[in-house]
Amino acid sequence: MSGASGSKTIDRPLPVIYNCLMDDLYIKAAELLNNSRRTIALTGAGVSAESGIPTFRNDDGLWKKYDPAIYASYEVFLRDPSKYWEMRGDFIRTYNSLAPNNAHKALAKMERLGKLDQIITQNIDGLHSKAGNREVIEIHGNLQESSCMTCNREFTPANLPEGIPPYCPCGGVIKPSTVLFGEPMPEEAMERALFESSHCNLMLVIGTSATVQPAASLPVIAMDHGARLIEINPEPALFHADLRIPEQAGRALPALLDNLP
Ligand code: NAD
Repeated sequence: MSGASGSKTIDRPLPVIYNCLMDDLYIKAAELLNNSRRTIALTGAGVSAESGIPTFRNDDGLWKKYDPAIYASYEVFLRDPSKYWEMRGDFIRTYNSLAPNNAHKALAKMERLGKLDQIITQNIDGLHSKAGNREVIEIHGNLQESSCMTCNREFTPANLPEGIPPYCPCGGVIKPSTVLFGEPMPEEAMERALFESSHCNLMLVIGTSATVQPAASLPVIAMDHGARLIEINPEPALFHADLRIPEQAGRALPALLDNLP
């Protein structure tokens, strides 16, 4: 998997807790979750892997077909928006056929139980909301939403004009809400994410290689404000996690719920 995550864990002592038996990890994690006043989750592509969406760095599917340096580049979009729109149909068809997995479902249950206050996700697939989570900040936007770059009119697949690229009735180019490489982050979503990260007691960091900024800074911000960090990733990537569960999210999150008192 990611070379960055591998190299990060080699040259430093692992927290003692890392060597605990898996059962002990879940008991400890459930204890942290149960005692936390405000818990948030930062999720990345790994949380959707078990739904059949390949992670970015291990993609053998759509991102192999569409070089993100061209098809998901903001600079290219501004010059030639048709490139992005050529690719998007394929993504929508693929993503629409996929369903939330046990990780998404466990996070939705956690919110229903009052144990999870907020999700901040880098994913654009909408699966957290589909699973039932209500408090979701999508810092990289959402594949389904787009708006006119001239008049800001908003579009969903239901009212999106036809054509590649599609044009707004006002004549403006329509741009997806998905954040493209090189594009400024959506201000409001980022402000909320920063606020949540600096006001939580516990952050669950799930299925992210923590290499894409500014999302990668959010666990550091949480830690600097006194929060504990639990990382769930078969290939842990964080330097500074208090507890690491080296397991797939679809197994780890239900097990964590099972261990709640
Ligand atoms: P990444 O591809 O850099 O890292 C994925 C991480 O998930 C890796 O550390 C990997 O070890 C871990 N992982 C793999 N399977 C897992 C599982 N079953 N359970 C838990 N962890 C698992 O992803 P990233 O850090 O999110 O950054 C990539 C960027 O690409 C993000 O900006 C994201 O928006 C975008 N992206 C989104 C989607 C999506 O919407 N589903 C998919 C691919 C990429």
